[in-house]
Amino acid sequence: MASVKIWNDNKYVYRNTFRGDPIVIPAGGFIEAEEQDAVLILGKLPNLIRDADGGYKPESYQMLRVEKPKVVAAMTSSAADLICNQCGEKSIDQVEQAKHILDKHMGDLAEKSRDEAGRKLQEALRKGK
Ligand SMILES: [Zn+2]
Repeated sequence: MASVKIWNDNKYVYRNTFRGDPIVIPAGGFIEAEEQDAVLILGKLPNLIRDADGGYKPESYQMLRVEKPKVVAAMTSSAADLICNQCGEKSIDQVEQAKHILDKHMGDLAEKSRDEAGRKLQEALRKGK
């Protein structure tokens, strides 16, 4: 399960409860949570504190955001890049993928472009008549 950071961008400490446990996130600080918990925590209603005029005090504003670990994001995107779009085969790195394309698909590609060129030529001849 992926662990994420929940940042408190407020200049006041964030206090709430989650599943019966208190959550305290320092002003400008973060706590770590499981991603699915983070979604629920961000969806919680803030503990609204009213001031003397009946307005909400800034310390009750919910200014939380979730930061996903960059490593995971980078791995996900490069893993997606390394899936061959011709046959769906996964490669462990870019070098392996390049080898795979050269081995398995260069023939196909060349054939396809030959066909394409041939088709265009025939079309041109037909139009020329
Ligand atoms: Zn392939």
